[in-house]
Amino acid sequence: MQQCCKSNPYLYERNNIAIIIYRKMKSARNTTAKIEIQELIVRSSVALSHSEIQKLLDGLCDRVTIYRVLERLMEEGVIHKIVNVNGVVKYAGCHSCSENHSHNHIHFSCQKCKAVTCLEDVEPSFKLPKNYKISEMNFTLSGLCPQCL
Ligand SMILES: [Zn+2]
Ligand SMILES: [Zn+2]
Ligand SMILES: [Zn+2]
Repeated sequence: MQQCCKSNPYLYERNNIAIIIYRKMKSARNTTAKIEIQELIVRSSVALSHSEIQKLLDGLCDRVTIYRVLERLMEEGVIHKIVNVNGVVKYAGCHSCSENHSHNHIHFSCQKCKAVTCLEDVEPSFKLPKNYKISEMNFTLSGLCPQCL
């Protein structure tokens, strides 16, 4: 403790409270960002890219925070990543994943409106040669969605 704090307990007290309030605000902000991003993705009928999320959040958090939250949500099995045919990464909500993602549905990417949708009921079927083991799947079909047909 600094000399000035000892001689002025009020100041010390006040500083301390300010720090506590600041910490609380900081963690509340992070929690809000996580909840907001989670809600956005889970409620959206189409997959969202990082920049779309940033636009929708309208300045609530910066790029880095969004990336960090997305990583967290993927680790928690709340959302999954979709690499679109053009290389753009999009995120969509999971339905019954925990820490380990367990889905093998396909994704549909519309060439006209650029919407990427999870087709939960469509399971791709394929046969791999011997000695190959799958750890991740990324099936994306492109064409026209019902809105654009
Ligand atoms: Zn998942
Ligand atoms: Zn479309
Ligand atoms: Zn999906």
